[in-house]
Amino acid sequence: REDHLRKPEWLKIKLNTNENYTGLKKMMREKKLHTVCEEAKCPNIHECWAVRRTATFMILGDVCTRACRFCAVKTGLPTELDLAEPERVADSVALMNLKHAVITAVARDDLKDGGAAVFAETVRAIRRKNPFTTIEVLPSDMGGVYDNLKTLMDSKPDILNHNIETVSRLSDRVRARAKYNRSLEFLQRAKEMQPDIPTKSSLMVGLGETKEEIIQTMDDLRAHNVDIMTIGQYLQPSKKHLKVEKYYSPDEFAELKEIAMQKGFSHCEAGPLVRSSYHADEQVSSAAKQ
Ligand code: SF4
Ligand code: SF4
Repeated sequence: REDHLRKPEWLKIKLNTNENYTGLKKMMREKKLHTVCEEAKCPNIHECWAVRRTATFMILGDVCTRACRFCAVKTGLPTELDLAEPERVADSVALMNLKHAVITAVARDDLKDGGAAVFAETVRAIRRKNPFTTIEVLPSDMGGVYDNLKTLMDSKPDILNHNIETVSRLSDRVRARAKYNRSLEFLQRAKEMQPDIPTKSSLMVGLGETKEEIIQTMDDLRAHNVDIMTIGQYLQPSKKHLKVEKYYSPDEFAELKEIAMQKGFSHCEAGPLVRSSYHADEQVSSAAKQ
């Protein structure tokens, strides 16, 4: 099957290894910080770090209590909670001179508050040290415990992002420990708690969904007051992960973007290399203009 499903040309991009962010990578190690940009070997790293001044930090460790079948993060029992991490993230945001910082975390189902307190403190610490940096948070569903979401929303991020990841029918297969409807409710509750904070969600395509199902997902997100949507190509991180069922062409992504805009999203990024945090800096301003 894999034989006839070759990677299309538009996904074969050359990674420039001779970039000037070697120093930044060294700093990340010294500060014991993890970024999705590096862990996921994101092809956009040069554009994001050097040009757009955006990065996605992964806090609360690099071991996740869940094992979603599309995700390359290690699974297991996480180590202790690092209470000094928020300040180190804030320092790195300053050193990198970031315009936009995305903070995500592994799912810490082992912690009573799902890591919400450290998450919220990270937002506050970044704000204190970097008053001009916009901050986007990208939490898991925090076990569907809304007190945890409230702790995070009270820290007043600029965007609340929570990924729906896939269409309803495939949800149980792709992300067994999360639920499609729980994610929708999570997004709606966030909006109710802080109506002025834009909400955002991302969908991966290429896992076997139909176009109708993608459109239904757009409708579901809009019905739960989600403002911003991103749609990107699923890529298999290793042979152990789910196979790619389809590569969407740039034209198909453009059509999906157009449909999303007709549905009333304030901003939609859709494309083969679009990731949850891609061009996030633009989304803050477009949401603010609403
Ligand atoms: Fe990092 Fe997201 Fe940019 Fe990729 S798209 S380099 S993960 S900020
Ligand atoms: Fe990966 Fe997030 Fe799923 Fe954990 S919860 S396995 S970090 S997608």
